[in-house]
Amino acid sequence: MFKNNMNIKLQHIKVCNAKHKNREGVGKNMKCKKILAIGFSILLFSITVLTTSLPVQAACSHGNAVYSHHILSGGVGNYGSFRRYFYLVNLNDLYSGYARTAVTEWVNTTSGVGVTTSISIRETTTQSSSVFDLYNYNNSHTSVLGYTEFYTYSTSRDPSTQNWGWSRIYLNGSVLAKTTAAQRRATIAHEFGHAMGLIHRNSAPTSIMCQLASGRTATRASASDCGNINHLYN
Ligand SMILES: [Zn+2]
Ligand SMILES: [Zn+2]
Repeated sequence: MFKNNMNIKLQHIKVCNAKHKNREGVGKNMKCKKILAIGFSILLFSITVLTTSLPVQAACSHGNAVYSHHILSGGVGNYGSFRRYFYLVNLNDLYSGYARTAVTEWVNTTSGVGVTTSISIRETTTQSSSVFDLYNYNNSHTSVLGYTEFYTYSTSRDPSTQNWGWSRIYLNGSVLAKTTAAQRRATIAHEFGHAMGLIHRNSAPTSIMCQLASGRTATRASASDCGNINHLYN
């Protein structure tokens, strides 16, 4: 069994005590590394908090809220001509439902917000096929709602400077429990936004990429969020 015990510590050092089974599939050949210093920027770019804000992230040269045109290698589905997959590693039934709804809303933006994107993501029961792995964890000694890590094979990637092959989305059940059901779904949608290459838009509460701590009202991607996806993948 794939097993992992990833912990983010306050010092932003990631300690892996995991026994990783080698996983097949593009970008996901896992090898255990004892201690991996996580790039500070990766954490800043991907973290979502409940009560405090983080530094403003820079938009691309065109003003779009994306990681400098770096992308999920292979894209997000190319209008259904192929699919990308997500895998629920250890979510309970409640959060599994939130995740499925969040993905469905990212897929069905034409009817939802009037903008078509190339996103075609479905669930898989084969983890090695997934490029979005979702984990629950519980830490009440933080305001972090969730965060996303970026990888190519087993190597951490900095999305502001590199493309990535897959991602891990971590959801903090302890803090999410303090929010509404709609905002739990929204947080998952927000992390998927990061995993596809979107950065924060804390001055735009109607964007799913606004952090909850900055007053997010969105519960799904807005038309302009979809436009930012199209900026990256069209
Ligand atoms: Zn975020
Ligand atoms: Zn641009």
